[in-house]
Amino acid sequence: MSVIESIRRDHARLAGIRRDIHAHPELAFKEHRTAELVAGHLEALGIEVHRGIGRTGVVGVVRGGRGLRAIGLRADMDALPMQERNTFAHQSRHSGCMHACGHDGHTTMLLAAAEVLARERNFDGTVYLVFQPAEEGEAGARAMIEDGLFERFPMASIYGMHNWPGMPAGRFAVHSGPAMASADRFDIEVLGNGAHAAMPHLGNDPVVAAAALVQAIQTITSRTLDPLDAAVVSTTMFHAGEAYNVIPDRASLSGTVRAFSATVQSRVEARLAALCRGIGEAYEVRIDMTYQRGYPPTVNTAGEAAVCARVAAELVGAENVELDARPSMGAEDFAFFLERRPGCYVWIGNGPGEGGCTLHNPHYDFNDDIIPVGAAYWVRLVETQLNLPS
Ligand SMILES: [Zn+2]
Ligand SMILES: [Zn+2]
Repeated sequence: MSVIESIRRDHARLAGIRRDIHAHPELAFKEHRTAELVAGHLEALGIEVHRGIGRTGVVGVVRGGRGLRAIGLRADMDALPMQERNTFAHQSRHSGCMHACGHDGHTTMLLAAAEVLARERNFDGTVYLVFQPAEEGEAGARAMIEDGLFERFPMASIYGMHNWPGMPAGRFAVHSGPAMASADRFDIEVLGNGAHAAMPHLGNDPVVAAAALVQAIQTITSRTLDPLDAAVVSTTMFHAGEAYNVIPDRASLSGTVRAFSATVQSRVEARLAALCRGIGEAYEVRIDMTYQRGYPPTVNTAGEAAVCARVAAELVGAENVELDARPSMGAEDFAFFLERRPGCYVWIGNGPGEGGCTLHNPHYDFNDDIIPVGAAYWVRLVETQLNLPS
């Protein structure tokens, strides 16, 4: 019996686990129930378990043979602070909290893989099962790294998987190179001199200066980056003033920057600072900017991506593995792992979804049909990377 067939036999039970996690979503670093569910499940399989890595993270250790090679497989466990609009039986029991990104499914697929790995041990080396907290904006991956993940569990490479709505179930996308973008934030304060709106010459208008800055910021991508280097700079907040007849003394702008390389990130940050200086001088206002780096770009290493593509192709057929899918401008904190170890983060098709439902939509639900193929991918990846000595 193939790996996927053996997992399919347990499908109803695995879907039950997934729906139980879905019904009990927990926010970043508060995944206590989920972490305990994971740890208990692994322990019942005889797997060595380490709790509390990066606060609520869990690591399981599965050994096969005597090999010294080791790899890591990662699933994320956290939910989002949003209200679920689904009405099915496994809808969220927690108001204002929802598994709208499918991390319930990711956790379940890795647990399902753990069952097979612990039972069959058809590999030579060590697999670290990394169940991370706080993927959604709170950098749980970084918390695990700062807690000594790679020193305590030395792995040569690490792998991630995310469901992808809109891509048919049973398909994979594997990027060699960037898969997801970086996500940085900027906050800008434009400080002028308030005045009577009928006497603008007596003040320094921060609104006009800020408006000029919004326009100038749009030239960063169009005029200073290589057209082949994709980036997004979006000013998403602009606040100033509170009366018809008052020129306010300050305006504030904030926004997000997305890119696929650290070089582009640095270039955008430098240009933002230069435009703030230049426009401040031109309009005789003071402009202060703070630029906050968030998640780095998620960049797969070529060798590991090639192995993942091969494993997926063996599982679902080469025609169902997209090697040229466009990367996403969304961000993913698996990037922190890839900054320190080679590895690959793949997308697994979640199917069309109800009404073309996307991630982070209040009607989203993880597609239980893909649990066997996702779990089998993990098992086959381990058996390929840590293949038995011939
Ligand atoms: Zn998400
Ligand atoms: Zn997610």
